[in-house]
Amino acid sequence: MFIESRELVMKHKIPVAKTSKYWQGLEEGKVYKTVCRNCGRAHYPPRAECLCGGEVKWVEIDEEGVVEAFTVVYAIPRGFEWSKPYTIAIARFGDIRVMGWAENVKVGDKVAIKTGKDESGVWKVYFEVV
Ligand SMILES: [Zn+2]
Repeated sequence: MFIESRELVMKHKIPVAKTSKYWQGLEEGKVYKTVCRNCGRAHYPPRAECLCGGEVKWVEIDEEGVVEAFTVVYAIPRGFEWSKPYTIAIARFGDIRVMGWAENVKVGDKVAIKTGKDESGVWKVYFEVV
């Protein structure tokens, strides 16, 4: 049994002051990770400071990646009504994994990391098979 309820619309305002380098990078076609100057741990998504408390440096992810997993999303979530079924992949780039949009990928494919805007104008990370 169900009762009708009100539709909820949520919009998040995410503070980005400490990670603005990442967001600026997307607009420049670059994807950054952070690497701790103290312990060497790499972070993606980037962290403003390391888990050890160490200061981080920003490093562009520009090497070739390898697809480790992917899924095709047929149940389009609210907010993506403009989308057809789409593929999200996870690729390893050296010491980190990145999740991004992809098309026609399979596990083991070598990919380049790219940035672009989706149809709703939001910056996204995607992969191109190389
Ligand atoms: Zn650290």
